[in-house]
Amino acid sequence: MDIGRFPKLPVRIRWQADHQAPCSAFPSCWQDIGRGQTGSDDSPRFYKKWKLDWMDRGCCWMDEYISCLGARGFEMSRPLLMSFIAKSVCVGVHVCVCVLLCLEVKRAGSIPTFTRLRAGRKGLEPIDGNVSGAWPWRMRSRRAAACAAAAVIVSRRLKVRSQKCTARKILLEFQEACYTPLARLRQVVDAMAVEMHAGLVSEGGSKLKMLPTYIDRLPDGHERGLYYAVDLGGTNFRVLRVQLGGLEGRVIKQEYEEVAIPPELMLGTSEQLFDFIAKELVSFVAREGQDFRLHAGQNREIGFTFSFPVKQTAVNSGTLLQWTKGFKVNDAVGEDVVAALQRGIERRGYKMRIAALVNDTVGTLAGGRYWNNDVMIGVILGTGTNACYVERAEAVSKWAGDIPKSGEMVINMEWGNFWSSHLPRTYVDESLDNESLNPGEYGFEKMISGMYLGDCVRRVLVRMAQEACIFGTPVPHKLLEAFSLMTPDMSKMHHDDSSDLKVVAEVLKRVYGIQNTTVGIRKIVVAVCDTVCQRGARLAAAGIVGILKKIGRDGSAANGVIKRNTFEQSDMNGFHDEVPVHYTSGGRTVVAMDGGLYEHYTKFRNYMQEAVVELLGEGSKNVVIELSKDGSGIGAALLAASHAEYVIS
Ligand code: ADP
Ligand code: MG
Repeated sequence: MDIGRFPKLPVRIRWQADHQAPCSAFPSCWQDIGRGQTGSDDSPRFYKKWKLDWMDRGCCWMDEYISCLGARGFEMSRPLLMSFIAKSVCVGVHVCVCVLLCLEVKRAGSIPTFTRLRAGRKGLEPIDGNVSGAWPWRMRSRRAAACAAAAVIVSRRLKVRSQKCTARKILLEFQEACYTPLARLRQVVDAMAVEMHAGLVSEGGSKLKMLPTYIDRLPDGHERGLYYAVDLGGTNFRVLRVQLGGLEGRVIKQEYEEVAIPPELMLGTSEQLFDFIAKELVSFVAREGQDFRLHAGQNREIGFTFSFPVKQTAVNSGTLLQWTKGFKVNDAVGEDVVAALQRGIERRGYKMRIAALVNDTVGTLAGGRYWNNDVMIGVILGTGTNACYVERAEAVSKWAGDIPKSGEMVINMEWGNFWSSHLPRTYVDESLDNESLNPGEYGFEKMISGMYLGDCVRRVLVRMAQEACIFGTPVPHKLLEAFSLMTPDMSKMHHDDSSDLKVVAEVLKRVYGIQNTTVGIRKIVVAVCDTVCQRGARLAAAGIVGILKKIGRDGSAANGVIKRNTFEQSDMNGFHDEVPVHYTSGGRTVVAMDGGLYEHYTKFRNYMQEAVVELLGEGSKNVVIELSKDGSGIGAALLAASHAEYVIS
């Protein structure tokens, strides 16, 4: 073959093979083989018929490619190479050809024609004359084998690299969509304050329900006696007893037990669920030690922490508005949950009184206030998320009842349902919401809380697995299962600081059976965890600052000087609080926080605290977020004490 004059490749035969690139143009030498036998048949069967084995194909490719390389250099030859074979194999073949030819050249003329080629910047360049296409059989087999090996190795490398590239692209896109710079957080803060106001003005005025809790007295340390709490959260159910000793004795002793809620009860009937709760409570009471004593004439009084949206009708009654956090006990919606539990207890032959129905957020606020008068806000960051705060009763325009003596009312915000166009929503949130038990509801909760963070990460990984095959093919079956990645596992991966990310590898293997991930892929998994965690934590921070802004405690009224709500200046809707809630000591505001997510997910906690400082600047010195561990349980017992029938003086 004359390499000085590269013939335009006659593309006479186009072959659409099942497993090949969509269209391959065959080199002329192949056509020579074919022409002699069949004429101009261009069907796939043509090649099957003549059984061209892969070795021949490899040699043909190489012959043709070498000719082209010699004549035109690599840049010009690449299209030819790519027309033979899949893109990922091209570089393998090219590398192999170059190596082989260099070796052959070194051998000094075992094939003399090669001595006239040299490796130039653009590939192999002819020195002079012609290169013969006739290769001895021995060389053909060696060439073909080497070609195949190099092609496999290089194509694998390329495949991994291209998987990583695609995965990185998906990651970048997701990070961009989740981005929460300060300006955006400020918009969320303002939107939160606006929505809070709207929710207080009228029923249905906002997606924030802003439910008055009928709690106008918070525990202050004077409470005495034995009280109980029942805490139905999201994942677990707790029963608790506490012996209170007034200001001097405070909490003399407390005990609690925790039971996982059987998943079938979360989707069963109201009677089954409340029967289960009553059974656990009764058996807890039956195992009471001598240290816990009721006063003569005192009844057993319970604070019932029920962490789902309830429309309260009194301090100890309320109807369930809807289920969240994976519960769907349909016949309980619209029912008085206190009456339902009371019936369950009576069915077991016990006499107890439910003195207060409280949300876990309200319990946390009460638990915090018992120790510290500066506690004004209660926040839950656990399976679900919610917040409550102490509001001026007069600011609750929709409140039809009497203004309480204290002039204050605890408002259960149900902030999980907060919505604003400023929230950074992505395809992950769309799909998670569509497949959830309460589509269209609790969008904020689905971006923030422990129940959903792991699943947000999983959804991004699914996309990477499907589009970039980062976990091989087919996509691991379990990865496609909703909620298969729990937030504690996400947190473990996120906190992995080993150089080879072995915790990430362990979690992927244990949860999904995924093995042999590269460190590069593990890094991408950690970055996804970080993105989801950071977004959730920063939005939670913006929510807290929104409440501080609403009650005029966002730090702009430092040192206890009462000032109008700073929202006055930025409010587009023209509202403001006339008088912020009073300061108790030096303008300090404490947020009582409870929930496994905040407690155990260190990076989440850190991101959240950083964002609060970013948003409040100097004012952040007056705001303290305090973990009030299991505050919701003891807080409910404390509220039972402060709303008890029998008051011990
Ligand atoms: P609940 O909200 O059901 O009352 P908790 O307040 O104990 O219960 O919170 C439990 C939730 O906290 C879990 O569903 C999980 O999402 C989250 N969580 C628990 N441990 C961790 C952890 N180590 N890392 C991250 N999240 C955690
Ligand atoms: Mg809880």
